[in-house]
Amino acid sequence: MSSEAPTPVLRGCIKLPLAEDELLEITAKAKDYALMHGAAMRSKTTFSPDTLNFAPFLLVPSSFPRKEFEKAVALQPIINRLMHNVAHDEEFITTTLAETIKVDEFTANLFNIYRKVLAHGFTQAYSIGLLRSDYLAHLYEGCAIKQVEINTIASSFGGIATHLVPLQNFVLSELGHAEKLKNMPKNNALAGLCDGMVKAWDIYGKPNAVILFIIEDVSYNICDQRFHEFYIRETYPHIKVLRRTLTEVHREGKLGLSKELLLGPHEVAVIYFRAGYEPGHYHSQNEWDARYLMETSLAIKSPSIQYHLAGTKKVQQALAQPSVLERFINDPEEIKAVGKIFTGLYSLDDNDAGNASYEMALRTPEKFVLKPQREGGGNNVYGVDIPDALKRMTRVERSAWILMDLIHPPLTKGYMVRPGGEMPPPIVDMVSELGIFGVVIGDADNIVHNYQAGHMLRTKLSTANEGGVAAGLGALDSPYLI
Ligand code: ADP
Ligand code: MG
Ligand code: MG
Repeated sequence: MSSEAPTPVLRGCIKLPLAEDELLEITAKAKDYALMHGAAMRSKTTFSPDTLNFAPFLLVPSSFPRKEFEKAVALQPIINRLMHNVAHDEEFITTTLAETIKVDEFTANLFNIYRKVLAHGFTQAYSIGLLRSDYLAHLYEGCAIKQVEINTIASSFGGIATHLVPLQNFVLSELGHAEKLKNMPKNNALAGLCDGMVKAWDIYGKPNAVILFIIEDVSYNICDQRFHEFYIRETYPHIKVLRRTLTEVHREGKLGLSKELLLGPHEVAVIYFRAGYEPGHYHSQNEWDARYLMETSLAIKSPSIQYHLAGTKKVQQALAQPSVLERFINDPEEIKAVGKIFTGLYSLDDNDAGNASYEMALRTPEKFVLKPQREGGGNNVYGVDIPDALKRMTRVERSAWILMDLIHPPLTKGYMVRPGGEMPPPIVDMVSELGIFGVVIGDADNIVHNYQAGHMLRTKLSTANEGGVAAGLGALDSPYLI
């Protein structure tokens, strides 16, 4: 979009502004509703394990194009299958990451685990993918969705997102708009994801085995994680859930005679990683040893190491190259549909193609975002900052990064409510990123479960490059379909 033309604003769910009295009253009520229903997090600034803040949220749901939402939902089983096939393609993963692992130590460490597991053979043939494919609607193509990224590890907010629909339903009803609820799609993310873990537990087939959550040293997003745990415990009371850090697994974990993962008296059937996706989670070799121990165990992992690698930005970039999808998807219609959600992704590897992308980025940086092989937000470089960042790198170091076309989403207007924020909240310009959850379970030859499992919407100030919810620029939301 040229800087002169104003960015279009999507039609909102209700007429704004609300009268100040009404806004104050409903905001206070919604904050309490959020706290009382677990749309909450631990504060990074005033941390106490005994205290929760409500999670930043949108008072009324933000609009999202219905057709594009439905498209994303329908595509998810195809994307699940794509990622499952990619994860099981040793040659593709190895060649795609070859340059990156020369310079990116974190990805190299993950890849070393993969290499060692390949050399010894996989103890557990099954994997469970709990994926989240993220999208922005792109103005230049009639608001068609474009994939921002796909997450294969610690895809979060399925728990809170599920509880956000009732919150926004409540607000709309209180404001006298009950007739609008029909435009808010039901969200079964929590049940879908947890039922997936239980299906993996069934495949493991030992009645006393447990589900292990791998957690950070401090869990700020505790409600989201506990929703998963409590759902499993309440729906399947015979399945125990344990929470352990990588450090604790290093201390307590060992392998049994059939390579089953043992934690004290417990045998682990399924491992659900909510940590382990960033270098800071590995304090020493101990945590890497723990990751390797789990990887070589019989437990079914979300993600297994090949799934983790399949979720890297570098693999995403490789998938968007012409005719690569044909390697993983048979149906030409499906190839076409998936191809359409990719925006331009460019290699920065140390070769001709990489050098051409480098030159292009220096010429027109405002068109791009530069991404390293990291997760969890806050790692990318945007627009005018790209040339300096690239020039500071050697040619080889650039291989740790990929270049991506900047997606230009439409604006929405609404009230973002955050702990300690202005009261009443002002109307702000925002953009929304849709996440669609997917569950896929299978081995190298067969997929035994494959389904879409709910969604989440994260909305950020239009002036922010990224909308990390914990970082303070983004807020949880649900789509209002228009
Ligand atoms: P992470 O794995 O750290 O979440 P993402 O690729 O999702 O990495 O990037 C983080 C955020 O950066 C996204 O949530 C989105 O707000 C913004 N972003 C990423 N890629 C693009 C893009 N191509 N166009 C516009 N914004 C983007
Ligand atoms: Mg990610
Ligand atoms: Mg992301």
